Amino acid sequence: MRVGIISDVHGNLEALEQVLRSIDAASCDEIVFLGDAVGYGPQPDECVAELDDRVALAILGNHDDAVLGRTNPFSFNEYALRAALWTRGIITAATRAVLERYMLAGRREGIIYVHASPANPRAWEYLFNLREAERQFAAFTEPLCFIGHSHMPGGFVRIPEGRITAFRPMRLLLNDQFRYIINVGSVGQPRDGDPRAGFVLLDQESGVVEFRRVEYAVERTQALMAERHLPEFLIQRLQHGQ
Ligand code: ZN
Repeated sequence: MRVGIISDVHGNLEALEQVLRSIDAASCDEIVFLGDAVGYGPQPDECVAELDDRVALAILGNHDDAVLGRTNPFSFNEYALRAALWTRGIITAATRAVLERYMLAGRREGIIYVHASPANPRAWEYLFNLREAERQFAAFTEPLCFIGHSHMPGGFVRIPEGRITAFRPMRLLLNDQFRYIINVGSVGQPRDGDPRAGFVLLDQESGVVEFRRVEYAVERTQALMAERHLPEFLIQRLQHGQ
């Protein structure tokens, strides 16, 4: 089974369409989405519909939850808050209905999929250091965990003696004695300095995980954001991938 794993689309349809093209070209058997379909970007309804059409499993993100009025968006920074409130005001009832079906966690074939962290998916924690990774590894039993949320691709590997190391995006050959937490990065708002849309391909037969990047028409997304009066800071950050 080949799985395309995507996260943090954030209403960026240009980026999503390029990623889906790339996943189709890689002949994946299914697509898993790790949350944050909406927030920040200009086309939330279109992204939610496209994802609903294409993904086998959809996980709830904090922005999806905020737009539904369940996670308090006033904990967001000023720009995220403005975008969340804008999104909440314009999405259709059909989009809300789809978002309401997103799950907090998905488990299949030795893999757990969550948006932020396996220990407490709704706490929306960020997993940046080894100590935090150790706590997270203790919170699930599967060999593999895929996350999004920070928009920073990479991950952590835990060897049987318990030692944990961080790794940067690369072609990874999974060792069946090790356990992994893998952050797939972001489709619609990368923050690692590379503006290209990010996602991951998992080949379960060969045990290969590939971090992929694809270019998309950033300026088209930016023009739509300007038209919709979304914050200038959010428009600019797409250009630099930060
Ligand atoms: Zn996000």
